[in-house]
Amino acid sequence: MNIIPRLQHLASRFFSGSGRQQGSQQLARLDAYKQAARRAGIDRLYLFLSFDCDTDLDADAAEELHCFLTSRGIKATYAVPGAQLEKAAGIYGHLATGGAEFMNHGGLPHAEWREDRWVGRTFYDSMTAEAVAVDIRRGHEIVTAVTGVVPTGFRAPHFGCFQKPEQVALMHRTAAELGYGYCSTTLPAMGLAKGPAYLSQGIVEFPCFGSVRNPETILDSWTYLTDRVNYALGDDYYRLLEETVSTMLEHRMPGVLTWYADPAHVLDQAPFMRAIELMAKKEVTSVTGDQLLDIVSPAVRMQ
Ligand SMILES: [Zn+2]
Repeated sequence: MNIIPRLQHLASRFFSGSGRQQGSQQLARLDAYKQAARRAGIDRLYLFLSFDCDTDLDADAAEELHCFLTSRGIKATYAVPGAQLEKAAGIYGHLATGGAEFMNHGGLPHAEWREDRWVGRTFYDSMTAEAVAVDIRRGHEIVTAVTGVVPTGFRAPHFGCFQKPEQVALMHRTAAELGYGYCSTTLPAMGLAKGPAYLSQGIVEFPCFGSVRNPETILDSWTYLTDRVNYALGDDYYRLLEETVSTMLEHRMPGVLTWYADPAHVLDQAPFMRAIELMAKKEVTSVTGDQLLDIVSPAVRMQ
């Protein structure tokens, strides 16, 4: 047996039987998170699913995915850089008319084609605070122009590299100045410390969520791609998601599955499509950013 099948074999053993019995132990690591969730008025398990649409491939994929999600009763919120919104204004405008929610994801492009693949660009940690604020305001103008709806939420480009307290405060402050209610622009570690929804600079932040097995690691499509050129999503994505949803439901644990994916990474990929079917079957309550804000606002703003 060469190394890859051997690892896969070990992983499948790891995920079966004994893994499930460890549910309570794993949830113990989410104890502070659970308490904070209750204080934020969260009484059940919610899914806040969003899509980062950074490349030209994502517009068509988002359109197709949106139909599938709607047919399964799953709500989606879209984070599209202004440059991509303008390129595919027809598609995104149409999704917005159909009721899809869009958050501000900045104005500049987040990816460019180099040789044989899409490569990331626009990193806020290499820009001045003024340039970051300008980009957030530009994103606001473009979302409003293309969708006809004023956004109420924000997520930074490649937000994992912009997590220092002063950087997060800058984003929250700028979003508050724009009249926003929420941001979802921090890593799972922030949720473990402060819970699924917390107040900062007048803004409610929804940190991204990991999994019960790897609570610090974001459960996004990029992390679990097994081929980053032709895009193939690994089975671990489904396994981690299934284990997380099942364990949290079994233990009646309140929380928010603040998960995101890139449409082109997940459309027609079995691990993702199965994950959506699972959450639909288990009737996890699916919400957009605005709906989640309505749920938590009274309690979070009282704290
Ligand atoms: Zn992005």
